[in-house]
Amino acid sequence: MTDRIREFLRQRQDDGPCLVVDLDVVRDNYNAFAKALPDSRVFYAVKANPAPEVLRLLASLGSCFDTASVAEIEMVLAAGCTPDRISFGNTIKKERDIARAYAMGVRLFAVDCKAEVEKVARAAPEARVFCRILCDGAGAEWPLSRKFGCEPAMAADVLEHAHRLGLNAYGISFHVGSQQRNQHAWDRALAQAAAVFKECGERGINLSMVNLGGGFPTKYLKNVPTVKTYGTAIFRALRKHFGNRIPETIIEPGRGMVGNAGVIETEVVLVSKKSEEDEVRWVYLDIGKFGGLAETMDESIRYPIRTPRDGSETAPCILAGPTCDSADVLYEKEPYLLPVSLEIGDRLLIEGTGAYTSTYASVAFNGFPPLKTYHI
Ligand SMILES: *Cc1c(COP(=O)(O)O)cnc(C)c1O
Repeated sequence: MTDRIREFLRQRQDDGPCLVVDLDVVRDNYNAFAKALPDSRVFYAVKANPAPEVLRLLASLGSCFDTASVAEIEMVLAAGCTPDRISFGNTIKKERDIARAYAMGVRLFAVDCKAEVEKVARAAPEARVFCRILCDGAGAEWPLSRKFGCEPAMAADVLEHAHRLGLNAYGISFHVGSQQRNQHAWDRALAQAAAVFKECGERGINLSMVNLGGGFPTKYLKNVPTVKTYGTAIFRALRKHFGNRIPETIIEPGRGMVGNAGVIETEVVLVSKKSEEDEVRWVYLDIGKFGGLAETMDESIRYPIRTPRDGSETAPCILAGPTCDSADVLYEKEPYLLPVSLEIGDRLLIEGTGAYTSTYASVAFNGFPPLKTYHI
């Protein structure tokens, strides 16, 4: 929460839940990344918060951008970024979208298998490609499973295939899992990346770049290490595995760039119990999983929640959204402590909601409009 957001909410007239993002915090975050990893280029992961205000600010600060679709590329270009600062980092692309990206000037593409390499070779001749390797995501609160990346042992074959088809086999990427609270998670992935560099070198292909991905956390309820701590740990791991031949590196922060810049204001619609004996109250808000809080899925991300009655006695609550879908419950397995005196109409502040909220909101499920957003 910042003074600017507090003041904005005090003066706000419209009704309904809203997300307010303080762009000064985004600027501070960008500068912290640039300082903590001075030799890495920053490719902001656009999906975390693609608001034009965020993209324009980061473009003006010199950031590059990691995109996953043609629409994201267009948004980044509209924000004033040049195509040489854009990567098409999704490993799952239609060939005609690769061709569109290429026509717009994008020359850096992610792959994780030979079939994707073949698409890129046909639609984006001579472009740079990096191969994503699997990472188990241990230590991450929002792990990324096996959907993206190949086994490290296959990566050299994928890159050699790219090389043979006239592409520039440029490097390796990985993602250690989102909200990664362990700054040493990069160590193992870098060991694997270094092994692929070696294998490719033996085949006469000299890789240049390691894409260190995202994963940098935002503070929710638990403390997280500073960006500087991550920078130091990553630099040590690079030294350990690459010695004096540290490659060019890029990072792709999403959550860590915008998460702590945003606050959602929501209203208590109902406080009830299911029986007189029930100890746990149900608290229904005017925002839920379909209004932008999708990351409460499996109760993975636990947001800090402020109430106007903080400091008074608390009791456990099951927190739920306003829609008529029973999946629209935020915290139930582990109920949330809220003041006993909480009342219908109280306004709550959900902190750390600058990333992965606004674009997760549904179009109009149950007639609830998408989350209103303000970037100030
Ligand atoms: C989503 C994504 C990111 C951003 O991850 P965070 O954990 O939010 O930092 C980075 N790189 C790729 C390829 C992604 O898909």
